Amino acid sequence: MKEIILVKYGEMALKGLNKKTFEDILTKNIKRRIKSLGRFICTSAQSTLYITPDDDSIDLDETMTRIGKIFGIAALCRACVCEKSFDDIKEKSFEYLSDILSCARTFKVTAKRADKAFPMKSPEICMELGGALLERFPNLTVDVKNPEVTVTVEIRDTNAYVHAENIKGAGGLPVGSSGKAMLLLSGGIDSPVAGWMMAKRGVHIAAIHYVSPPYTSDRAQLKVEQLCEKLTDYCGGIAFFCVPFTEIQETIKDNCPEEFFTIIMRRIMMEIAQRIAEKDGCLALITGESVGQVASQTMAAIACTDAVCRMPVFRPLVGMDKTEIIETARKIDTFDISTLPYEDCCTVFTPRHPKVRPVLADVEKAQNSFDFEPLIQKAVEETELKIFNFAR
Ligand code: ATP
Ligand code: MG
Repeated sequence: MKEIILVKYGEMALKGLNKKTFEDILTKNIKRRIKSLGRFICTSAQSTLYITPDDDSIDLDETMTRIGKIFGIAALCRACVCEKSFDDIKEKSFEYLSDILSCARTFKVTAKRADKAFPMKSPEICMELGGALLERFPNLTVDVKNPEVTVTVEIRDTNAYVHAENIKGAGGLPVGSSGKAMLLLSGGIDSPVAGWMMAKRGVHIAAIHYVSPPYTSDRAQLKVEQLCEKLTDYCGGIAFFCVPFTEIQETIKDNCPEEFFTIIMRRIMMEIAQRIAEKDGCLALITGESVGQVASQTMAAIACTDAVCRMPVFRPLVGMDKTEIIETARKIDTFDISTLPYEDCCTVFTPRHPKVRPVLADVEKAQNSFDFEPLIQKAVEETELKIFNFAR
């Protein structure tokens, strides 16, 4: 029996004239992600993508797992390819759905007849196939309202397809359809989730990370690189910029009032991020901040940080509780990496009593006590770039 994977478009199915562009990006993202598993033929019709493996040895479970993480997809399923005759549809249904139907109690059949030349109409297909399945599997009864199993028959151009389970896709829009943004990626729990959430809206992610050796270790950086690699499952390739930040942090410590250390550091982080973002063609910054989580994330502190920003700053976690963020981090499998115990540069020289309600004029005055511009330029120049892609 030949099996294929059917992919149903998500929100982009509603797009008007742009739909083709979205479709092309999604197809490209899928092809790139499953290429290492073998050869596939991809065709599309009526908001569905047909992914046909070219040889029987291809691991379709792994193919489904990979496609299940790609944004832009409402649902996906494995389906059995049938000839366009009712007899073949019936025989293949018996065999292909045998496991699932022999342990179910209730079922229904739905039919979609895209090929109007097929001699039976949809209700007739449902009736005939339903009757045949009832005879074959005496454990079954029909329940049209709330069935355990829905058997779907699709009659398309060249073939018919039978399938029983629809798996929910990752939703959202295909990555790359909304332009690119720069994610400030720390080793913490929040920022990888923030990146994942924006990728879900079709945003192609680049990442920037600040290191302060010897206060932060190589292992702390490796951890962030591991997070980057994990995110590629969802986001595709990621350009990772690593900024040397030691000198700036030491200079803040030696020249600015302690209560403003963190807020000045964050303003300089944003300044460096947007310079690199501009060079890399990014249209926005993304952070993992959430209102009130720590002193630098009060509304007053965020206002002081944003005062240096020339591009939009997206904070997709802004209204989320830590428990909700952790739930998502577990779901996308970044939690265990994020909770490895290495230090972040934010924990270097943290003030004992940070200002919870900083006033912008005071922060600016404190920061202006030293000319950071040459150090900022130097950090930008010495930033290193690595490209991350799927591990397999
Ligand atoms: P996270 O869990 O993402 O580290 P957090 O709750 O620990 O967030 P902060 O440490 O205040 O919060 O950092 C707020 C945001 O600033 C992070 O979500 C991230 O976007 C960015 N950030 C913090 N440290 C770094 C870093 N070393 N490199 C890049 N971005 C950083
Ligand atoms: Mg952090």
